[in-house]
Amino acid sequence: MAEIREVFAGGWLGKGPRTSAFEAAFAAHLGVAADRLVSLNSCTEGLFLAMELLDIGPGDEVVLPSVSFVGAANAVAARHGTPVFCDVDPSTLNPSAAHIAARLTTATRAVLVLHYGGYPGDIENIAALCRDRGIPLVEDAACAVASRASGTACGTFGEIGLWSFDPMKVLVTGDGGMLYARDPETARRAAELAYLGLRQVSGYAQAGNGGRWWDFQVGPFGRRSITNDIAAAIGSVQLEKLPSFVRRRREITHWYHGRLAGVAGLRRPAPPPPGHEPSYYFYWVQMDRRIRDEVATRLYRRGIYTSFRYAPLHLVGAYGPQPPLPGAERASEETLCIPLHQGLDDSQLDTVATELTAAVTEQCELAGIERS
Ligand SMILES: *Cc1c(COP(=O)(O)O)cnc(C)c1O
Repeated sequence: MAEIREVFAGGWLGKGPRTSAFEAAFAAHLGVAADRLVSLNSCTEGLFLAMELLDIGPGDEVVLPSVSFVGAANAVAARHGTPVFCDVDPSTLNPSAAHIAARLTTATRAVLVLHYGGYPGDIENIAALCRDRGIPLVEDAACAVASRASGTACGTFGEIGLWSFDPMKVLVTGDGGMLYARDPETARRAAELAYLGLRQVSGYAQAGNGGRWWDFQVGPFGRRSITNDIAAAIGSVQLEKLPSFVRRRREITHWYHGRLAGVAGLRRPAPPPPGHEPSYYFYWVQMDRRIRDEVATRLYRRGIYTSFRYAPLHLVGAYGPQPPLPGAERASEETLCIPLHQGLDDSQLDTVATELTAAVTEQCELAGIERS
C-alpha cells in the first residue's frame, strides 16, 4: 500500500518509471537482459503477440498440449493458424518431447508449451527438439514465475516466454503480464506492437526543442497492451516476497504429500526430478474416474473449492476435429486440483486433507471400488 501511495503522490499512474523498475527487477530475477522484456497488461495478450511476432497465419500449425490455457489456442486460431494438440503424461499433465515430436509436420511453425502446475516438465528435451528442427519454441510460463530447470528460468528456454500476474497466479499485480524475447529485435517489435505500432518521428523527449514532437508514423498495426505504474509497483513488492511465497507453497506441497500418503484410492503427483525447481502453483490428486466428480461436489458442499485445470482443448469443438489423446483424457477424468496458496494456514490444510480423505473413502465404498 505504501508503494501504491507513492505512485499516486508522484501524480502519474500510467506506464512510467515504476514499470521500467519492475521490468529490470524481473529481468534480474530471470537472469536475462532487461531489453529482452516487455511488460504487458496480461499473459493472454502476450500469447496473441507471440503468434503475431512469429507471423503465424493460414495453414500454419502450432503444436500445443491439449491441457493448455484456452487463450493459447485462441491466439493460434485468431490468426487463422491451426492449433495441433498433443497428448500429455497423465500423471504430470505435462507433455514430453516425444508427445510434441509425434505431432510435428512440415507445416509446424511453432511449439507452445506451458509448465503444468509450475513444474518445468520435459522442457530441456522439448527445447532441444525444437532447436534441432529449427522450430520456434514459445513458453507459456504463466504458472512458472519462479520455476527453473538446471538453473535456467522457465520461460527463457525458447524464443518467446510469457508470464501472468493475474489474480489467480503466484505473483499478482491485479492484472499484468510479461513477455521475454531471446532476440532483442523481436523484443523491440513486441514493444512496438504493444503500443499501437507507434514510431515517434521526433518524440516527446524533444518537446520544446522546435519541430513537431506530436508527429508520428505507424509501423505495424499494433494494439494497446501496456501496463501501468500502479500494477508495476505492486509487482516489484510481490517480486521481493516471491521467495517466501514459493517457500510456503513448497511446505504445503510437502505437507499434502506426507498427509495423503497411504490414503486408499488416492494417487499423489510424483516429486520433481533433481535439478527442477517448481513454483508449486498447483497441487493435485488423482482417483478413479467414477468418483472424481462426486468427490469434488462433496468437498464443495463442505466449503472446499476444487477444480480441474485445464479442460482438454482437443475436446472443444471450436478448434475443429482432433484425434483422441488418451493421456489428456485420462488426466481430465481422474484429476482434482486441491487448494494451494501461501495464505492457507495449517488448520485449513488439515481440514482439506481430512475432508478429502473422507470423501474419497466414502465414494469408493459407494461405488464399490476396490481401494489399493
Ligand atoms: C492464467 C494463465 C494464463 C493467462 O494469464 P492472463 O494474465 O490472465 O491473461 C495463461 N496461461 C496459463 C497457463 C495460465 O494459467
